[in-house]
Amino acid sequence: MTIPSLAALMPEADAAQERTVAFRRKLHQNPEIGLDLPVTRQAVLDEIADLGLTLRLSETTSAVVAELDGAQPGPTLILRGDMDALPLQEDTGLPFASAVEGAMHACGHDTHVAMLAGAARLLAARREELAGRVLLFFQPGEESYHGARYALEEGLLDDTDVIGAFALHISSQFESGTINVRSGPILAAADTFRVVLTGRGGHASAPHAANDPVPAACEIVTAVQTVLSRRISTFDPAVLTVARIAAGTTSNIIPASAEMEGTIRSFSEETRDDIHTRLRTVVSGIAAAHELTADVDITPGYPVTVNDETFTDRVRGVASAVVGADRVVDIENPLMGAEDFSYVLAKYPGAMAFLGACPEGVDPDLAAPNHSNLVVFDERSLASGVATYAGVALDSLRPTA
Ligand SMILES: [Zn+2]
Ligand SMILES: [Zn+2]
Repeated sequence: MTIPSLAALMPEADAAQERTVAFRRKLHQNPEIGLDLPVTRQAVLDEIADLGLTLRLSETTSAVVAELDGAQPGPTLILRGDMDALPLQEDTGLPFASAVEGAMHACGHDTHVAMLAGAARLLAARREELAGRVLLFFQPGEESYHGARYALEEGLLDDTDVIGAFALHISSQFESGTINVRSGPILAAADTFRVVLTGRGGHASAPHAANDPVPAACEIVTAVQTVLSRRISTFDPAVLTVARIAAGTTSNIIPASAEMEGTIRSFSEETRDDIHTRLRTVVSGIAAAHELTADVDITPGYPVTVNDETFTDRVRGVASAVVGADRVVDIENPLMGAEDFSYVLAKYPGAMAFLGACPEGVDPDLAAPNHSNLVVFDERSLASGVATYAGVALDSLRPTA
């Protein structure tokens, strides 16, 4: 079924394309990193100033939540666009490349801000078609700074009647203009760990007189893989990688300690907790067998990003009406990246979808990926993002009459 009001969104977003692109490029040239993004925040406030929105400004970060009220009362829907850039030097050579040394919008969050502002403009002109409130959540600090969690803790998204939350993420590795989504887990939980084994140093020729942590470290590296493959369901994928292992200084000294660091990726909170427990058990068991002391430090990163099934169906329906059913793609497997929108989706039902933006003539599998110093996003996809954001709000807050 084609819903007439949704079908009209794409031409409207196309008509606004020049404005969307200009705003995106302005943001792209002025990237800021972390939770404090004064230039970006001001640019957002200027861009939406004429839309008659009520603003909630974070006291502790640069978060902006703009309320857009429909003509009729109703529940609340959250649309999120993150605002922060990454600490790397841009090498794209684009005419609007970053003007800030060592900072680049390499994850495309500049496009998210521009698309969300564009959707706000489309929705502000359609208040008659909205029964309820849209919260436009411009979020800083997605890249490891837990910006979404801070906004939730600050109560910026505390409305009692939130029926859903939606975010788009641009990606150079999907075909331009496509909306890519799946229900259930879409992005992983990402935790880091550090293990330190302490023994007793000595002469490499006399290990019996020392207590060597190196063999124990080697045993741990292989044992955790075996334990994971035997004890964690193969139907709930997980990865544990020891990415760094360090001990010793030269060939004739047994070191007093050995150190390992790595990452844990998982797709359910149960498996995540289980891996943490098993890592600790394996390390302490092997350390005990070698009479070593062991310290295990696990730093929790973002939780699993889980798309609600019903809400994901809504997104598919809206995207089909807006960009065409042939441009809506089901992602078969979750991606191993992580997102702090996961905190929002842990509180409210909702979904995150990927907007394809592979440059013209480039194979999506070979395109420079998000976070690359060379990543380029096809700006023609932005209209699809604007229309999809707006469409999800219109469809969620449809008047009943
Ligand atoms: Zn990123
Ligand atoms: Zn990102």
